[in-house]
Amino acid sequence: MNNTDKFVTPGRMPNAFEAELLTILIEECAEVQQRATKVLRFGVDEIQPEQPHDNTQRLSVEVGDLLAVVDECMNVNLIDEIVVTEQVPIKIQKLAKFMQQENKNAQT
Ligand SMILES: [Mg+2]
Repeated sequence: MNNTDKFVTPGRMPNAFEAELLTILIEECAEVQQRATKVLRFGVDEIQPEQPHDNTQRLSVEVGDLLAVVDECMNVNLIDEIVVTEQVPIKIQKLAKFMQQENKNAQT
């Protein structure tokens, strides 16, 4: 391959601050994933030894962390708040259409 075949992005690369924020966003997504798998494996109200909170509370903490980082990303335009807001009802409709399980606790 010669240099004329190499793809060089015309896009602006994230600066150091943006790159760190994206790294933290990735970390928080992973922490949410980890806590969600603990709920699946050990139950919603299981409390791990030497932990004060159950799995639902610990998942909630990580979701809060994630939302805080998402907010910071929106503040520096790494995430478009308008797109996020528009996407919420779209995803809710998709869930209603494609989820195979019914919410037995839903209030009608
Ligand atoms: Mg966290």
